[in-house]
Amino acid sequence: MRTYTGGCACGANRYEINTEPLLMAHCQCRDCQEATGSGHASVLVFPKSGAKLSGSVTEYSTKADSGETKKRAFCPTCGSPLYTFLESMPEVFVIKAGSLDDPTVFQPQMVVYTDSGCAWDYIDPALPSYPKMSPST
Ligand SMILES: [Zn+2]
Ligand SMILES: [Zn+2]
Repeated sequence: MRTYTGGCACGANRYEINTEPLLMAHCQCRDCQEATGSGHASVLVFPKSGAKLSGSVTEYSTKADSGETKKRAFCPTCGSPLYTFLESMPEVFVIKAGSLDDPTVFQPQMVVYTDSGCAWDYIDPALPSYPKMSPST
């Protein structure tokens, strides 16, 4: 099995994940747009059970469109976004593909929240896409 390792730009925060991701997707929700400063976030969803997180993060809570609370964790020194924790799914967490040591392992399976996507944020039209969250997740 593959080990997924990565961390923030300054190296103060590192993670090591010894499970396969439950989901890999591009997310165009407003929250991801604000968190990345771009058109979408490319994310991997992992079970918390297989993850070792080290370092210290600053957390910021936001309310998603659905009304649920999301906690975003980022590095207080370099500002890299690291983890997202969802109140409704405490057993999983989300990382962004760009934080991986080898971001080429990211293989997007779908695009979600295309409702808030921008025309300039062009994503492979061959991927299944959903106006909100995928019905299967
Ligand atoms: Zn950092
Ligand atoms: Zn999102």
